[in-house]
Amino acid sequence: MLPEEVLKTAQREMLDYRGTGMSVMEMSHRSKVFEEIIEEAASLLRQIMKIPNNYKVLFLQGGASTQFSMVPLNLFRESRTADYVNTGSWSKKAISEANRYGKVRVVASSEDKNFTYIPRLDKKMFNLDADYVHITTNNTIYGTRFARIPDTGEIPLVADMSSNILSEEIDVSKFGLIYAGAQKNIAPAGLTVVIIREDLIGHAMEMTPLMLDYQTHSEKNSLFNTPPCYCIYIALLVFRWLHNLGGLKQMQNINQEKADLLYNVIDNSKLYRGTASPEDRSIMNVTFVLPSEELNKKFVKQSETQGFVSLKGHRSVGGMRASIYNAVPLEGVRKLAGFMKKFESENR
Ligand code: PMP
Repeated sequence: MLPEEVLKTAQREMLDYRGTGMSVMEMSHRSKVFEEIIEEAASLLRQIMKIPNNYKVLFLQGGASTQFSMVPLNLFRESRTADYVNTGSWSKKAISEANRYGKVRVVASSEDKNFTYIPRLDKKMFNLDADYVHITTNNTIYGTRFARIPDTGEIPLVADMSSNILSEEIDVSKFGLIYAGAQKNIAPAGLTVVIIREDLIGHAMEMTPLMLDYQTHSEKNSLFNTPPCYCIYIALLVFRWLHNLGGLKQMQNINQEKADLLYNVIDNSKLYRGTASPEDRSIMNVTFVLPSEELNKKFVKQSETQGFVSLKGHRSVGGMRASIYNAVPLEGVRKLAGFMKKFESENR
């Protein structure tokens, strides 16, 4: 979802953006007006996430999946080894891509229990010669999240934050690089946000295609080639919305309240069973199953008639997944919690 207020502003500005007589969709990315949009977007994101000055904000394309290759191509150095934590299918995809360019050591994994938890990590588990450590902070399919960010000492920590960026306060200085496909909490699909510490730029492997070298985009402030202009404009509107809401602390409180509503129903139920380990539960994706396939199907069908969409879980987990990203209103989650209680009382 995108905040309704953002969609309304986009609608209002659709045909004539601030007296230019044009839609942002039609503008040259070299125009002064668009330059102002991209600059304000980057600077607001810096403000909201409290990004230190020695980090660059890049607006790229290719989705988080392209970052699975860009990260190793740019961050592998002499040792060409990296430590990865395997917490689900997105981690696995990142691992197999990095394996094409160097050596990956999977230092911890939760695959033994179908990724229902986050492995406990200790600094001693990481290889001192690793070029970086990679984690997936929120596991969209399994509904788990890193409640604590691991300490990797001097080794740069790289995080795929596609499904929880901007959902809570984080200390950017703990990371060497953060990346996220924008389509969950930022903007429509087509934009990828990368936040990278400056010292990690400029060391790409020789064979790295120009478009996959962070330096190419960093030097030109994400205007090396035509960026996804309209997505960046919507991202700016979302950043303004978040800023006006009170920033990440406030967003986190709201998200926690939304997640608690659903987890409370699950924890006090004889019908629903949460699939993620309670201490590692995501506040973005709430996963649960009912006792039989028949009841799962019935729940999906009835919920659809009530206007709830996309509740069916990923096939590798089954059951349900309620994705309650930033723009999903508290009221909507209250209604879902109410529906879940009613469904239980009718299907005891
Ligand atoms: N990582 C995570 C955690 C995701 O949830 C997703 C998409 N759902 C991806 C990576 C892949 O993102 P994209 O489709 O932007 O390549």
